[in-house]
Amino acid sequence: MDKEKMLEVKNLKQYFKLDKKNIIKAVDDVSFEIYKGEIFGLVGESGSGKSTTGRSIIKVYEPTDGDIIYKGINISHKKTYKKEKSFINKSMQIIFQDSTSSLNPRMTIGDIIEEPLNIQGLCDNKEEKTKKIYEMLKLVGLDESYINRYPSEFSGGQRQRIGIARALIVDPEFIIADEPIASLDVSIQAQIVNLFKKLKKERKLTCLFIAHDLSMVKHISDRIGVMHSGKIVELATSSELYNNPIHPYTKSLLSAIPTPDPKKSKLKKIIRYSSNMHDYSKDKPEWIEISKGHYVYLSQKELEIYDNKLNIV
Ligand code: ADP
Ligand code: MG
Repeated sequence: MDKEKMLEVKNLKQYFKLDKKNIIKAVDDVSFEIYKGEIFGLVGESGSGKSTTGRSIIKVYEPTDGDIIYKGINISHKKTYKKEKSFINKSMQIIFQDSTSSLNPRMTIGDIIEEPLNIQGLCDNKEEKTKKIYEMLKLVGLDESYINRYPSEFSGGQRQRIGIARALIVDPEFIIADEPIASLDVSIQAQIVNLFKKLKKERKLTCLFIAHDLSMVKHISDRIGVMHSGKIVELATSSELYNNPIHPYTKSLLSAIPTPDPKKSKLKKIIRYSSNMHDYSKDKPEWIEISKGHYVYLSQKELEIYDNKLNIV
């Protein structure tokens, strides 16, 4: 496997100061890497800090602390970021959950998809631009005839495809998809997931794919980071995370995946998680590599309890 690093997030902290006394630690010492051509899933319940992580990477915020290294360039340094801004704006794109509000209702689909080219001054030739728009429509599975229509004429799934076409027209190398399927029906979710798989295969797209549950993410991601209260509590390949989850929060997320078989789903026990179950007053949690590439954030004592394999020994 090509292990070229696309993105390195090192000890990222993103704190929001509400007033003199209250600070929200939205992202609290998070580190991970995304390799070129990989889909990295970031999963966790609402409020765990996923969007803030994504936004810090595209530099919506100045990080409180830590480094964001994109293609070898440390963009967390203000000066470097300024210098590289136009390259980064073209190379990195973000897709949001709510395709309805992110598409201008008064613009045609063609104009919406074309806009990033104009903003970034990437193509002056009208004919070439139209050709690119058609190419994007085809790529995301939309009919060419849609080019002169308006967003309101389309379903949620179609609008999400329009958003994806818009992000892809500048030919980015790295995409942050922030819950791009959360507002869609399950069958449409699967279609969008398949589209991402196709983009990865055909365009070698690298992607940070954010979601609040594991049901779709485990099918699409090469590796997954599980986030809770601003921290990544477990990180592993999809199959390792699925087959050998260690952290109780990961286990709880896995137990919540609906099973299509109603008989089995009745037997299924939902595992509840609360951060109160940890007592870190004496035994501090650590970032432990329990097998190659499988990391978990627990205290040594907890690890002995939660790691089923260790229990057998
Ligand atoms: P997620 O995407 O996992 O739902 P977020 O990253 O949006 O979580 O939010 C993490 C925490 O940070 C939440 O408690 C949220 O209220 C808070 N937060 C996010 N953005 C801001 C902001 N700009 N100012 C203050 N608090 C924020
Ligand atoms: Mg979010």
